Amino acid sequence: MHQAVGGSALGLGAAVALAWWAGFGSRTQLWGPFPYEAPHRRGPGPGADADREKVVALTFDDGPNEPHTGRLLDVLAAKDVRATFFQVGRCAERFPSTTRRVVDEGHVLGNHSLNHAFSRYLHEPDQREEVERAQEVLHRVSGVLPSLYRPPWLCHWPWVLRTVESAGLQVVSGTFCHQLEVFQPPAASIAAGAARRVRPGTILIMHDGQDAKGGDRSQTVGAVGPLIDRLRDEGYTFTTADRMLGVPDRLA
Ligand SMILES: [Zn+2]
Repeated sequence: MHQAVGGSALGLGAAVALAWWAGFGSRTQLWGPFPYEAPHRRGPGPGADADREKVVALTFDDGPNEPHTGRLLDVLAAKDVRATFFQVGRCAERFPSTTRRVVDEGHVLGNHSLNHAFSRYLHEPDQREEVERAQEVLHRVSGVLPSLYRPPWLCHWPWVLRTVESAGLQVVSGTFCHQLEVFQPPAASIAAGAARRVRPGTILIMHDGQDAKGGDRSQTVGAVGPLIDRLRDEGYTFTTADRMLGVPDRLA
């Protein structure tokens, strides 16, 4: 009896883990293409990285969130690096001038949903609205209609991918910069963790906000300058996610 209960609990745990991996893993391609790095020019396989350039795309999710996004933009301007910002519609309504500044300073603006609310991903009409209404908000605020979409929590259930595709958007995953970034460990730790994870063609995920809630992101912002210096020392150059994937940077 106890064994049977233990067995079914184990089975349920495994099923939940599998479902999580399939729908949320940053690299799982089970439900369709979910690009997380530059495509291989000669196809994947042994030695495929050898022909890759040392290029990395820095991406920032969950903003705009002042004063952190503004400070981050100052760092990127001082380092002459262009990045990709996956912004939340509600946050862009809160800080519209920051969203405009992102575009004015040559960065790429991507869509990261309207509300960044998990419940909105469980039903098709809700999550379609998340994508489409965020497009409207970002366009109204910045004048740019994004071409890139990064789903919150990287949720890429089949219906999410279908919606993103039917909206004419390119879905973008990536590599998380640091397992504990959400808890804001010291900037030096974030920078070191991120540098370890970068390979030629990496699309790196960092956060200038938290969901749609804002919050203190000073350690992430503090990590970006040293990270750029370190990657440059290693021979890396910087690009944006659209260029990494070879797609347009905007729809209009
Ligand atoms: Zn997010």
